Amino acid sequence: MTAWGAWLKPPRTLLLILSLVTLVSVSALGWFGWKLLDQERMVEAQRVQERLEQTADRLAATLRGTLAEAGERLGASAANAPDDGLLLTLQANTLTANPPNRLLYYPSPPPEPEAAPAVFAEAESLEFLQAQPQAAADEYRKLADSGNTAVRAGALVRLGRVLRRAGRDRESLTAYDRLAALRGVRVAGAPADLVARLAGSELSGSRSEAHTLRSDLLAGRWRLNRGQFQFYWQRASRLSGDAAELPADSVALSEAAWLVWQQRDDESNLRRQQTVWIGGRPYFLLWRGTPGRHFVLVARPDSILKPLIAGHGALYALTDAEGRVVAGRRSRAGRAAVRTAAESQLPWTLYVTGRPALSTAPVAAQQKFLVSAIVVMVLFLILGSYFIARAIRREMEVSRIQSDFVAAVSHEFRSPLTSIRQLSEILALGRAPSDERRQIYYETLVRESSRLQRLVEALLNFGRMEAQGRQFRFEEVDTRALVEHVVSEFEPQVVGLGRHIELHGTESRCAIQADPEAIAVALRNLVDNAVKYSPECPTVWVEWDVENEYVAIRVRDRGPGIAESERKAIFRKFVRGTAAAARNVKGSGLGLAMVQHIVAAHRGQIRLASQPGQGSTFTMLLPVTGKS
Ligand code: ADP
Repeated sequence: MTAWGAWLKPPRTLLLILSLVTLVSVSALGWFGWKLLDQERMVEAQRVQERLEQTADRLAATLRGTLAEAGERLGASAANAPDDGLLLTLQANTLTANPPNRLLYYPSPPPEPEAAPAVFAEAESLEFLQAQPQAAADEYRKLADSGNTAVRAGALVRLGRVLRRAGRDRESLTAYDRLAALRGVRVAGAPADLVARLAGSELSGSRSEAHTLRSDLLAGRWRLNRGQFQFYWQRASRLSGDAAELPADSVALSEAAWLVWQQRDDESNLRRQQTVWIGGRPYFLLWRGTPGRHFVLVARPDSILKPLIAGHGALYALTDAEGRVVAGRRSRAGRAAVRTAAESQLPWTLYVTGRPALSTAPVAAQQKFLVSAIVVMVLFLILGSYFIARAIRREMEVSRIQSDFVAAVSHEFRSPLTSIRQLSEILALGRAPSDERRQIYYETLVRESSRLQRLVEALLNFGRMEAQGRQFRFEEVDTRALVEHVVSEFEPQVVGLGRHIELHGTESRCAIQADPEAIAVALRNLVDNAVKYSPECPTVWVEWDVENEYVAIRVRDRGPGIAESERKAIFRKFVRGTAAAARNVKGSGLGLAMVQHIVAAHRGQIRLASQPGQGSTFTMLLPVTGKS
């Protein structure tokens, strides 16, 4: 029977109940564990949410404070220009920027002096109408020495032009050089030195000069309007061969200044704040001022938010009214705390989102611990149930074996007792038909009573042995003599059955150190079994010889053999094999247990070789003490 098959043997109901109890307990434990984990997760989620809410409140307050402070400083015109932003002042219809070089162009170029065209009317008539360039140049030269810088500038630009047209490039260049040295005056609406430098580099074809001009334009050296800037930027770029794009930030700031300029007359709210999008980037405009004088801070919202959130383990984002992110990063996964513009009195909605690692790490550790605890508990429960089931099975097995034993023993007792009673009754009543018959009755009485005695002794012996009460008395025993003595006891019984026991043994003397009575009991049991279980075969063999350090006493029969699965079990007390059940052979299941016990007490071994259907050989190996 397989191991599983053995488990399915009775007591089935008990095992079924135990399995059900185990299953229900394990499921309940699992369910409680799961609930506990769930609750733990919820508590942790709540904790994370609370932390996010607190962070959001703190950040909103800090942000509000920062903006208020920036506004106050701006109102007191004590503000410093931000690192990547701009501070604009609108006053008396002019716009000034701090730092000034961060703007590429201005919405309003400053009013710089420029000579009236009428001053050059006469000379220009000579140049264009009368086609007398030399005379015109002379006129311009005279004017170029004027004490008025604006007139000087106007004359020099025209002188440069007329000389260039006449092919007198060197002289023309000299005129432009002189013009380039003039500051704070304009010609044709543009700064005189810028006009001179572009014309000079065009004339000389110098790429490096054009390149320097381009760099100066980028550095915001001149106050130009958008159109002028683009014109000079394109001309300088073409001349220098440099195709690099304008920096987007500078363009955006210049455009922001232009937007601010558009609102210069709006005095409805002098403390306003706006978020504007320029070239796909958000800019924050913070207004403060008094009528006629406005201060505007232009900054990226990111640059306001970043210093406030440095070092925090969460994701922050500011969004405008349309939900566009103006600063920070917004995560859509996980939990978030939101502060709307109305709640926080900020110009934006604030989102604080938990980073996944921040919110789940402690929960994961707790979950791991809980899961391991539950697994350990479940394992304990299953193991406990397994051992209880095994113990139940054992107990049931023992009680079954014991009841089998009682049944077998009482049967063993009953048959000799019955015949003793019947025969002694016949004899007592003098009903024996003849003397011959009476003799047979007496002999039967002797046989049956000695059978009873043997049985009682076997039981007592085994009981004593089990209780370690049997004292073995060791002495040197000759194997041949012992075997012949035991076998001779069986002679009358086997001869009566038409059978015989064959002895084979080495001629030399084999002595063992043994308790002769105990070994005789063991051998008797083996021979008895061989005779009992092989009724079809007339012969049983008993052999002895020396194997290494042992004397081997073998009892061999051609009986039914013993199945592999039973070979271990039959040595346990009260266990009877299928051969016994199949042939209805009487016995107690004690014989082999006793043999094993006795052999072990002699520091020997018992070996069983068997082939089902062919027979069995039981070998007692007992330590040899001497041979000759
Ligand atoms: P009993 O013979 O009283 O049943 P034992 O302990 O002597 O008890 O033997 C245990 C079982 O071993 C037997 O019930 C029988 O099934 C099996 N057995 C023992 N000896 C032999 C044998 N020579 N041939 C076949 N089966 C045997």
